[in-house]
Amino acid sequence: MKHIHKYRRINIASKGKEKYNVFKCMEPDCNHYLPQENLIIGRKSICFSCGNSFIVKTKNFAKAVCEDCKGHSLESKVEDILKDIGVI
Ligand SMILES: [Zn+2]
Ligand SMILES: [Zn+2]
Repeated sequence: MKHIHKYRRINIASKGKEKYNVFKCMEPDCNHYLPQENLIIGRKSICFSCGNSFIVKTKNFAKAVCEDCKGHSLESKVEDILKDIGVI
């Protein structure tokens, strides 16, 4: 069944080598994965937070999360609080 993959970074061991990371689709019954981290950039993924599809722009994540959901991340919440109390 065709679907938009839902990427998560996982560690896999290869023969005789150090462990390395790949991005794997976490949908049940889907064995798709990207053998190189760089291949994730520009791919469509399902967001783990909101479930919408989006284009991945970075490989620096453990679970795929879209820009909108990243906007609600801890970092921006801290920024909001600092603004509220007049620090920034
Ligand atoms: Zn998939
Ligand atoms: Zn999202």
